[in-house]
Amino acid sequence: MKLKANCRYITTLKITALVSISKFKQPGPRAPPLGLAKSIFYRRENGNLGQTTLFIISVSLRCVQRNENKTRIYDKKQACYYCGKLYTKIARHYEQKHESEREVTIALSFDKGSPNRKKHLEKLRLLGNYHHNLTVLEVGKGELIVSRRPSTTKGCNPNDFLPCEHCLGFIRRQELWKHVKSCKFKSEKIETSKYQKVQEKSKLLLYPAISTDSRTTRLSKILATMKSDEVSIAARNDWLIKEIGVVLVEKYGEKQNSLISQKMRELSRLLLQLRETDASPNSSLSDFIKPGRFDDVVSAVKKISKFQFEKGVQDVATPSLSLKIGHSLKKCVNILRGHALRAKDKVLEEDADNFEKLIASEWSYRVSHHSLNALNAKKFNKVELLPLADDLNKLRKSLLAKMSSNMERLEQEPQLEVWGDLAQATLARLVIFNKRRGGEASKLLIESFLERPDWSQVNSTEVLSSLNGFEKELSKT
Ligand SMILES: [Zn+2]
Ligand SMILES: [Zn+2]
Repeated sequence: MKLKANCRYITTLKITALVSISKFKQPGPRAPPLGLAKSIFYRRENGNLGQTTLFIISVSLRCVQRNENKTRIYDKKQACYYCGKLYTKIARHYEQKHESEREVTIALSFDKGSPNRKKHLEKLRLLGNYHHNLTVLEVGKGELIVSRRPSTTKGCNPNDFLPCEHCLGFIRRQELWKHVKSCKFKSEKIETSKYQKVQEKSKLLLYPAISTDSRTTRLSKILATMKSDEVSIAARNDWLIKEIGVVLVEKYGEKQNSLISQKMRELSRLLLQLRETDASPNSSLSDFIKPGRFDDVVSAVKKISKFQFEKGVQDVATPSLSLKIGHSLKKCVNILRGHALRAKDKVLEEDADNFEKLIASEWSYRVSHHSLNALNAKKFNKVELLPLADDLNKLRKSLLAKMSSNMERLEQEPQLEVWGDLAQATLARLVIFNKRRGGEASKLLIESFLERPDWSQVNSTEVLSSLNGFEKELSKT
């Protein structure tokens, strides 16, 4: 893969080492590597936006070390659950430094050398390593601590390890099912699932540290088609905005790409405004979802939706924007809380909770009240032009004429242009008949029309008798 020298975005990513996808691709239907893939957007020579996936190989793994006499060196370090530092004798560290922590107190309440004490300390050791590994995967840098280190450099691939759902120890993918069956931390009631399921559950434990599944691929598509400007660059580089995108992709599916893109852009505009007032060009949206920054967020929202105080009246130029951002911010809070729970981050959890409380108590009178007022004022001041029956008739006639002439032409000779014309005229006719949003009719599939139920069969006589002649005629088609 060749990256052009004029690619604009690649410089914004801090990547220690890049390896092209072709070099890393594994044969067969293997799952993508954990969290090490990043989508990169770059500008092609013809001006179009290109996208490629790169793997970051700064996550490493240490295999068993041996000295000259081929005897094993015991240099494996464990991460502390509380302070995150690495120690070779972690049990001693817990006993000496963290004896007041709840989990340690429980472990120390058992006799020295007893199996219960050992088990509790081991659980804590694995928990510490799990959190260390999540950080490594999330940051994309560092060394994984796995349950059993491979003996040769050949097996030193961090992508091959997944956490056990019971003990959270990182086990080699291929051996996971065997381990899960006999894991000593498994509660007896849980039945072991099949090989595939084991890996699936295990990967959920790594979410959101990894996100290389199909949703992110779909999100990448949306990001690639987004209008290229500073708003989209900010959206691409902010993890929280991207996470919102992933959540929305899951909710709406691919058909609502423009809606998802729009929602992400709204948050991105908010972020740009916050960065400007804060004079911190590299801050991320999550930095502002804190109770202490709530007022800044409110004023940034007010600024981008153009709140003006004129003649003693609060006016809002784009009220819908502030309302939409309000909804999106609530989603941001939930995502952050999810992260906090997974990361056992009490501070982040509290921040998210308190920010949500502030939204609940203050957002309505500071932002949405004025926006709704402005929306209502615009609504009742708007002149509504009702179409004349005459005009509607004209439109109908013209559409029908267009449709029949196009159909004739198509029967003589199939042409793409004519087909497109016919499709548009048919859609216009459908929209007029449906009398609702255009998007609704456009999503109708020919398949659903062909497979429609036979209403004459399913209609109950009672309903039929209540219809007038015209409605009865309609129900036959
Ligand atoms: Zn510690
Ligand atoms: Zn286990």
